[in-house]
Amino acid sequence: MLKLEKNRIEKKLPHKNISTMWPSNGLEAVACCPICKSRDRRLLHKNLKDQIFFCAPGEWDLCQCSACNSAYLDPRPTQDTIHLAYAIYYTHKSFISLSHSPASGIRRLRRAMANGYRNWRFGTDFKPSTVFGILLAPFIPGFRQVREHEGRNLPRVKQGARLLDIGFGSGEFLDFAQHAGWKVSGADPDLKAVQINLQKGFDVRQGDIFAFTNHENTFDAITLSHVIEHVHDPRSVIREAFRLLKPGGVIWVETPNINSLGHKHFGPFWRGLEPPRHLVLFNWSSLQQILHDEGFHITRRVTRLGMYRRLAAKSRLIACGDNPNFWITFIDRFAGMIANLHCKINHERTEFITILAQKPNC
Ligand SMILES: [Zn+2]
Repeated sequence: MLKLEKNRIEKKLPHKNISTMWPSNGLEAVACCPICKSRDRRLLHKNLKDQIFFCAPGEWDLCQCSACNSAYLDPRPTQDTIHLAYAIYYTHKSFISLSHSPASGIRRLRRAMANGYRNWRFGTDFKPSTVFGILLAPFIPGFRQVREHEGRNLPRVKQGARLLDIGFGSGEFLDFAQHAGWKVSGADPDLKAVQINLQKGFDVRQGDIFAFTNHENTFDAITLSHVIEHVHDPRSVIREAFRLLKPGGVIWVETPNINSLGHKHFGPFWRGLEPPRHLVLFNWSSLQQILHDEGFHITRRVTRLGMYRRLAAKSRLIACGDNPNFWITFIDRFAGMIANLHCKINHERTEFITILAQKPNC
């Protein structure tokens, strides 16, 4: 674990330090693991604070289940008060870069290559595009991985197929999926995000997956990008997704991995913890287990490389309150290369868990 003194953080972030407490009547005890219900656990991190958005009061203890090794806050905010943790507008960062601004030279070529791959893989019709994006993709794994992730590793759409994106945030994936031919719907708790995407003409509702409860056996795909760690009862969300999907439909889930190299190295400063918005943190096995328990067949485990360096930079910002200097960044780049090699051999250590699963046909 990175050896950084806690008082160093306090010293560097005096104006950002959250000193007020969470309302005492807005807390609930979590006596057992939300994933496997085991009561055996150990204290993983104590007195964590919101050092990302600096808007959530309180200090938080993170426990780790001895049975399934998932981690969870205890106590945690109640459903009635969790909105206090989202006082600053919060949305899901999109990894999709669909700039339509003019470009020339290398930038235009890179854009054309990306569009060439997107159009071939997902059925979009972005321009400019070039067939070199398809031909060269096998030789540039990072390029292909990013493009695949933009489409959430989904199969190419069939005519009239419906997709539901939970926690659509900015709505950029709704836009991408619609370009790919999906008939898209979405749910997000943020009213502003809903209003913006209603104006774009999308079928979106305020709330969570239960906002579409009258749509049994309706969707061909449901996506949850960095959503499952925010909910009080992840199992009920997976169960509802199963109910909403048609037989043969797929679910795509991505969430931070508590067993990642980043968490191992940065400990309480790891960006993926994000207390108290992240209530539950999975590992590969525990996420696969609840998907399996609720009836899904795991069809693909996606190993996303290159994420260590990105999370290392953000984790150092949490630890030090400042961007790392050139040499630390250089070291993290090198460590990122080692992390990539490590994760190629052992995907259990990736920063994120990314899984595709299917509802059986019968
Ligand atoms: Zn457990």
